[in-house]
Amino acid sequence: MAHADRLLLGPGPSNPYPEVIEAFSRPVLGHLDPDFLAVLDEIGDQLRAVFRTKNALTLPISGTGSAGMEACFVNLLEPSDVAIVGVNGVFGERMCDVAHRCGADVVRVESEWGHAIDPQRLLDAQRAAPNARVLAVVHAETSTGVENEIAPLAAIADTDTMLIVDTVTSLGGIPVDVDGWRADAVYSGTQKCIGVPPGLSPITFSDRAVERVRSRSTPAQSWYLDLALIADYVGSARRYHHTAPISMLYALNAGLRVLLGEGLDASWERHRRVGTALQQSLPELGFRPFAQERRLPQLTSVWLPEGADDLKLRTELRDHYDIEVGGGLGAFAGKGWRIGLMGHSARDRSVTTLLGALRELLS
Ligand SMILES: *Cc1c(COP(=O)(O)O)cnc(C)c1O
Repeated sequence: MAHADRLLLGPGPSNPYPEVIEAFSRPVLGHLDPDFLAVLDEIGDQLRAVFRTKNALTLPISGTGSAGMEACFVNLLEPSDVAIVGVNGVFGERMCDVAHRCGADVVRVESEWGHAIDPQRLLDAQRAAPNARVLAVVHAETSTGVENEIAPLAAIADTDTMLIVDTVTSLGGIPVDVDGWRADAVYSGTQKCIGVPPGLSPITFSDRAVERVRSRSTPAQSWYLDLALIADYVGSARRYHHTAPISMLYALNAGLRVLLGEGLDASWERHRRVGTALQQSLPELGFRPFAQERRLPQLTSVWLPEGADDLKLRTELRDHYDIEVGGGLGAFAGKGWRIGLMGHSARDRSVTTLLGALRELLS
């Protein structure tokens, strides 16, 4: 069955760039073929540019953003370690779950949904638990549309605690500055602001985080995500670990070329411009903002207009206009939407198309 070519304006996946889709038609090569390894090396350089880091261990993990999340936690945590986690939405909650499964004692620093986490509270939690192995926070909370400030957490680098940052929805959409943040382990995903289908999770580890992985007293509990093993394939040893997802890597290579060709500043500005335009227009149609501060331009969270039927409206948008938007999560489910303008979907055309459809449906 043929699928409709939908305008993807949910919380991910976004529409991929045309150059990315073309890349899938390249011939498949072996994962140790020098021509393929050249692509893999180029992706490492592209990711260092996009993450803004000099970290040697910078690579795409096989799997979606959640695989990158697990890779950070399973490699840095050992049983009984303390993990401080900022929680103001679904993805902070998921970090707690993953850390807990690693056997860690989780210290939660919570903030209400729709609000940001005050970085000072995270720093205070670290001061109160200086033995904490990691401090983890989500940069762009996709469940609420709120940005958590990371830069003030750079001071963590002067302690023994490692800073883990989730940039799944921020990378390519708003400024991410891994070396400026002095972050130790940062992961992302391909299907949000990078404009590539889901399937890979770019990650980067600082030298001290790599040192930590290499000096563990117990092996990481995941063989598949063990960075000590994966680094031997991506690095000069070229030792087989698992078969690299060749075609997905071509696609990521092409998507990062589009992003870097446009320029990071230009991409951030494009996401800012279209997101602001949408957020300024939605109140005219009766939608009210859910995020109370530090609103993300690439992910807009809104309460539905009075009396609007969530499922009916989203079904009509999909079936009659070929537009996907995301429903709310948690307390926001059934009452709000999450509208993404990310990657190739972050265009003026997406805003005018969605607003036009909503005007017809709500009149
Ligand atoms: C989407 C998302 C994830 C999970 O990524 P998957 O690709 O769905 O595995 C993690 N963190 C944030 C902030 C996300 O938006």
